[in-house]
Amino acid sequence: MADDVGPAPGAAGGDAASALGSLLRLQDLDTAISQLQHRRASLPERQQLAEVTEALGGVVRRVAEVAAARDDLLRRQDALEVQRAQASSRQKAIEQHMYAARGAASRDLQAMDEEIRQLQHRAEEMEDAEIELMIALEPLDVELATLTDERRRLEAEASTLGDSLASAEGEIERELGQQGTARVAAAAAVPAELRQRYDALRARLGGTGAARLVGNRCGGCHLELPAMEVDRIHRLPPGAVVTCEQCGRILVPQSGTGDTP
Ligand SMILES: [Zn+2]
Repeated sequence: MADDVGPAPGAAGGDAASALGSLLRLQDLDTAISQLQHRRASLPERQQLAEVTEALGGVVRRVAEVAAARDDLLRRQDALEVQRAQASSRQKAIEQHMYAARGAASRDLQAMDEEIRQLQHRAEEMEDAEIELMIALEPLDVELATLTDERRRLEAEASTLGDSLASAEGEIERELGQQGTARVAAAAAVPAELRQRYDALRARLGGTGAARLVGNRCGGCHLELPAMEVDRIHRLPPGAVVTCEQCGRILVPQSGTGDTP
């Protein structure tokens, strides 16, 4: 059985019927407001911006890694250059000493000769190491340049997305403002007791507290009412408040409210 609560309080006959018409207008506005809020929460730009920001974070982290690896190689390169310069001046010093000590014991000359040979060998090793470092640096330089381009591209994309997100949000905010103003007027036209009942149902039933009875179907739960129940509802005085026996929402028959679908 439908729960009949009688005509809207403080109104009778045509006034009660118009109270139900106002209730439907209020429901339509609340539905529109919920849809706008949902649209604002699920703007594709927001998700896209989050993805771009995440990608940008990844690029920035990778830049830091590559730059650190590159700095490490550059430090090793600098250290090798210092060692090479030291070895080279040591070799020159020995050569000068050998030249000055042409008459020295051959044992001393042999020792100096041996050190020069070792220094030359060491210089060759360092030269190889420097070439290896240069080879290792090259891909890092290439990656760093690519990452820098990628970062610029993502920053520009984030900026564009941020702008269009703000613009889409602004548009929805304006619509919400208009609908909010209309809702205040619509709510004022619904008797307080009916509005409280509607608000309680709406809170409990996913935002829909009032529904149209279209044919024999409830516009809230979309289930069909028994033909006898529909007949009974249509025979009630205009403005009688009935609820759907299946979902509990306030049911407003299409005839008698002046409301057209
Ligand atoms: Zn229903």
